[in-house]
Amino acid sequence: MNSRRKFLQTSLLGGVITGSSDFWSRIALQFDKPEKDTFPAVIATWGPNLKANAAAWEVLSKGGRALDAVEAGVRVPEADPNDSSVGYGGFPDRDGNVTLDACIMDEFGNAGSVSFLQHIMHPISVARLVMEKTPHVMLSGEGALQFALSEGFTKENLLTDTARQAWEEWKKKSEYKPKINVERHDTIGMVAIDAQQRIAGACTTSGLAFKMAGRVGDSPVIGAGMFADNEVGGAAATGLGELVLRTLGSFLVVEEMRRGVHPQKAVEMVVKRIVRKYPGQVKENQVGFIALDKKGRHGGFGIHTGFNYVLYQRGENKVYEAGSLL
Ligand code: ASP
Repeated sequence: MNSRRKFLQTSLLGGVITGSSDFWSRIALQFDKPEKDTFPAVIATWGPNLKANAAAWEVLSKGGRALDAVEAGVRVPEADPNDSSVGYGGFPDRDGNVTLDACIMDEFGNAGSVSFLQHIMHPISVARLVMEKTPHVMLSGEGALQFALSEGFTKENLLTDTARQAWEEWKKKSEYKPKINVERHDTIGMVAIDAQQRIAGACTTSGLAFKMAGRVGDSPVIGAGMFADNEVGGAAATGLGELVLRTLGSFLVVEEMRRGVHPQKAVEMVVKRIVRKYPGQVKENQVGFIALDKKGRHGGFGIHTGFNYVLYQRGENKVYEAGSLL
């Protein structure tokens, strides 16, 4: 090979290598240089979830793993009979059955999920075991229940008197109309970053009150109700699951953040996309997103006013009113 051609080839190769390593180190810098004390941190949908955040913080403040924090956090509303949209006390479907959806992701990108699960108070812990003990990501219905029982979970009646009464009341008209921001839209989505900058997320719900039997929402679908990527951050959704399912909303938020977009801008962009694509379906329905990035920066935004979220950071657990588009 003539020496000039050889020189060109090596220098070109050198350029490419230098160029690409510069590129990757810039990307790494962008995500790895957090502002002071921004993590550990934990964010969750809806104001009443301060207690859930506190349970997650308990794990994080002791140097625990983000995955353990989000599981501990969302177990709080799952066991709360007064929370009518998560776990025990959740409003039933139109046949009077409480059916639960949940998902979880760890810092390695592993994921586990359960949908249409009945009689088990802590679907999030079943989802975690699906992730850790099976070769699958998602178990549903009877199969999910059998798996939970084989793992030592016990069958319980999750329909409280209050939820039964609400259902009896609803049956009088049998009108299916999800309402904006009422307590039945209280799904908890949570994202945490721990002291070692590991990111995990969880989401759990009894879904829309008085839904059709068999209906599964966005919450157990990885990328819809929740998505976490350890290189970038995590996001979670609440509100009308059908709108989030059609847009894979949480995945989209994380992908915007991957491009370097601030979490607040990212959630706004995704809400705007939903409103633009489904103008006829957003007037009566709420969707809200929360996001937390690798630097510990956060964001929250909804279609309508009334969406709020909780953030525990720098030792403080606070409710934030999210901005909205409409
Ligand atoms: N996203 C949930 C679902 O559609 C409901 C909610 O967030 O309230 O099942």
